[in-house]
Order: sequence, then C-alpha cells, then structure tokens
Amino acid sequence: MSTNSKPNLAGLSLAKLRDLFVGMGEKPFRAEQVMKWIHQRGVLELDAMTDISKPLRERLQQTTCIELPRLVEEFASEDGSRKWIVQVASGSSVEMVFIPEADRGTLCVSSQAGCTLDCSFCATGKQGFNSNLSVAEIIGQLWWANHHLGGFKGPLERPVSNVVMMGMGEPLLNFESVMDAVNIMMEDVAYGLSKRKVTISTSGVVPAIDRLKDFTDASLAISLHAPNDILRSQIMPINRKYPIKELLRSVKGYMDSLSDNRVPVIEYTLIAGINDHRQLARDLAVLLKDFACKINLIPFNPFALSDYRRPSNSSISNFRQILQEAGFIVTVRTTRADDIGAACGQLVGIVADQTQRNSRHIERKLRAETGAKEFDSADNLAIAADSV
Ligand code: SF4
Repeated sequence: MSTNSKPNLAGLSLAKLRDLFVGMGEKPFRAEQVMKWIHQRGVLELDAMTDISKPLRERLQQTTCIELPRLVEEFASEDGSRKWIVQVASGSSVEMVFIPEADRGTLCVSSQAGCTLDCSFCATGKQGFNSNLSVAEIIGQLWWANHHLGGFKGPLERPVSNVVMMGMGEPLLNFESVMDAVNIMMEDVAYGLSKRKVTISTSGVVPAIDRLKDFTDASLAISLHAPNDILRSQIMPINRKYPIKELLRSVKGYMDSLSDNRVPVIEYTLIAGINDHRQLARDLAVLLKDFACKINLIPFNPFALSDYRRPSNSSISNFRQILQEAGFIVTVRTTRADDIGAACGQLVGIVADQTQRNSRHIERKLRAETGAKEFDSADNLAIAADSV
C-alpha cells in the first residue's frame, strides 16, 4: 500500500523508467534491468538486484521506492479459480480473480475501487466509487498472481497467459494508469503478454476509445448488453451519454487502427425477462451485421442488491442459436468461481463509497423488500445520472 511520494519503480512503464535513469545521469538500459527484476523475477528488494552497482542501488534506495498493494485475503473456488483481495492506498480493497482452463490461465484485474458508473447487472456499480488505482496497484495484481502461482520461477512458468481488465471499475475512466499498466503487461522485459491476450473491457467511454490507438494496441471487449438505445440506457446509464451508434463507430475506428485482423468481443449479459427475448437476439444480429466481432453471452450471476435473475438454459441456448444462424461466432461464458463471490459481475471488495450510491441502493432494496417501493431500473438511472 503506497503512502510514499517517491517514484514507485514497480509502477513505471519502460519509457518512464528510462527517463528516470537518464535523469539520474545513468544509462537507459538500467530500466530494462530493474523491470526484469521486479516483473520477471518477482524481486522487490533493491539489494537483491545484483547486476546493478552498489552505489546506484544506494541512490535508488534514497530517491525511489518499490511498493505494491497489500494482499489481504485469498479464496479458492472448488472449480480451481482463485480470488485475491488487495488493499490499495485509499484504504479500499479490490478483488482480482484467476481462472485456470485447459489451454490458458486468465487473470481478471480491477482498475478502480468501486465504479462511478452503475450498470444495473453489476455488483461493483452498487458499491459506489472511492478511487482510481495507481499503475502499481493495477500491475501489482498481476505481480501477486504470479507470486502465488509460481510465475516467477522461470520463463517456462507462465500460469497467467491472459489478462482481462474486467474486474472492478471502468478501465477507461482511469485512462493513464491503465494504459501504463497494460503496456507493462505486454512489455517483453516485464510480463511479455501478447497484445491478443491482454483485453481492455469497457462499458463504452467513447472519447477514451477514440484516444486508445495512440497509447496501446491491446484487445478490446465492449459491454453492450442490449441491441437498442432505450433498453441499453435502462441497463447501462452511460448509454445516455454515448449511444450505441457512436460507440460502434468509435470501436471500429480503434480496430481499424490495429495492424492485424483482430475483432472486438461484444459482451452481452443475459438477464431473464430483461434482455433475453428472442426478438432481441434478432435485433442484435441486425445491429451487428456489418460489424466484425465475436459475441460472448454471459448468463447473469445473482448478487445481493439485484432483483435480476439468470435466464433458463433454454433461453440462453435459443439466444445463442439465433445469433449463430445469423453467422456470428458466439460463446457462452461458463460461470466460474461463484462459490467465492467471484463470478462475472459479482466483484465488490471493500469500497469506502464517496458517492452515497451504495447506501441508496441498500435503502431502496430494503424498501422493496418491505413492500414500500419496488426497486427498479428507473432507480438505477436516477442514481447514476450525476456520475456519467
Ligand atoms: S460493469 Fe463495469 S462499468 Fe459497469 S458498473 Fe460494473 S464495473 Fe462499472
């Protein structure tokens, strides 16, 4: 947990590390050396960095620090997934989740303590917002996962093969820190993850997507969840500011800027009776007919402050079939780690809310349960109106 005003070597991109060393009158290659120690070997003590001279180590001791968020708790799911909670400088705690599969290990990373947006299907949104995470607090999640999974033992040990910025928070509302963290993830002298295996997931912050190509070439996932603006604005208040047409235009601009033929993933959380009607699947197919993409259907995962329900298996399969028959590549996300509260949409951490949203959601839920007033999507819109 950083309380230090000195530059934190664990949170500097390669370019910023080079600038730091050049500013100290040192050779820029020192940056590569330090980055390898911290992010490839998992070493956080300057004294252990034996290829750096003692006088330089002493100067670094005096003028810099190496600090990561503090790991406070670990949970193991019956399905092999793991969730870790880390405490960040603001005092809040955020969650990250590791999901092992036969051919990959995916780490879902948080970018904010809470979230200023209030997507109606998401537990994080109900927590309100406390703070943006620093670069070290974001990359520190990958560092801790590697530390616990044996990822610092050598180049052949790579338990985390993929990172998705899909944990707590909207990554593009913490733009600078997320860009630096993502670039450290993909840096050869750090974690060396391929651009195809680092995915930024956004609810659709259009101005930030428009800027993205100047900072990274990571992969992109879009939280869409509805094929029309009326429904999407009910589910995701941000749509009132950046409607679907503008969002798709912006995403296409980013994908066109990439040097390969990657396509974005369209995320669609299926909520029973809200957005899982067959006609909406047909509408989605029409909306995306000229938009190269893959579609990932995510059956809603229940949490305490939501009245939403997961659709039946037949609804999910009907929705999928309609899209497949229209020619789309469609996957259905398997629910993982819900026994440890770590399934998609369930992450909460401990957020010292600065927006009062969490207490308002709890009050509304209590009123609904006592019959005083139904908790409905109109409440979500009202609560989120000031924050978008
Ligand atoms: S889905 Fe993402 S953007 Fe929406 S409230 Fe949750 S964390 Fe925020």
